[in-house]
Amino acid sequence: MLCRSCNKVRSNRPRGLCYSCYYKPEVRALFPSTSKFARKGSGIDVLIPPLSSEPTSAMPGTEDKIRVLMERARNGQCLWHPLDAVKAMPALDAPLVSALAGVA
Ligand SMILES: [Zn+2]
Repeated sequence: MLCRSCNKVRSNRPRGLCYSCYYKPEVRALFPSTSKFARKGSGIDVLIPPLSSEPTSAMPGTEDKIRVLMERARNGQCLWHPLDAVKAMPALDAPLVSALAGVA
């Protein structure tokens, strides 16, 4: 494939450009990334809803927590608050871990 800008030499840089075109900022700006993995957009217009005014003590998975989430959604607030109650992780049973790991 020839360079998308100069159409003279084979493209060997991203964006379908040749080496000399790719490293000219004014040329590179004219050819956006063709990669499907490239970040698109400015990222500054992403809507982050406001936090609710206070955290909930309702435990995850309970009916109370679901009601709190519904209320937050109705008010256009972020569903999760960093200080919401969380379930403690269950302690791992040491003999079970050893058996699963094939040790001892
Ligand atoms: Zn070129």
